[in-house]
Amino acid sequence: MEKPTVQDGQVVSLEYTLHVDGQLVDSSKGGAPLEFLQGAGNIIPGLEDELYGMEVGESKNVIVAAEDGYGELDPDAFVDVPRTQFPAEIPLQPGIELQVRDDAGRVLFARIDRVDDESVRLDFNHPLAGKELNFNVKVVGLRDATDEELEHGHVHGQGHAHH
Ligand code: ZN
Repeated sequence: MEKPTVQDGQVVSLEYTLHVDGQLVDSSKGGAPLEFLQGAGNIIPGLEDELYGMEVGESKNVIVAAEDGYGELDPDAFVDVPRTQFPAEIPLQPGIELQVRDDAGRVLFARIDRVDDESVRLDFNHPLAGKELNFNVKVVGLRDATDEELEHGHVHGQGHAHH
């Protein structure tokens, strides 16, 4: 019998580390492996594409360019806001992360990019936008997705609130 390999419609369990600019920014170590449905766009496309054909136990380094990861930096995602609109308890310093509600009431995440006397420049880009992603991945489990998972386009594991 042929060994199962990562294909569309398989549920993949993946251990991974992610380095950006030489720094560890994310890892499955110390927790459960990442579980996702291959071919459903559950993970970033540049990583998903590289997993096809891998067997359980196989590991690999995958370098994902920004455009295949979290996208390029969007210059339109920088917004200047008058200082007076910020509550006094928020420290107005570059790098501080904030949650902001838009006009529709949705919560958006932003980082303070720059501060001057009049205004604060907020950056709404994903923190990893514009970055090359260096993954080390290991496939630790593979199974066929259920019909329901295929229909929903994602994995139903423990803790999945059904919908
Ligand atoms: Zn579901």
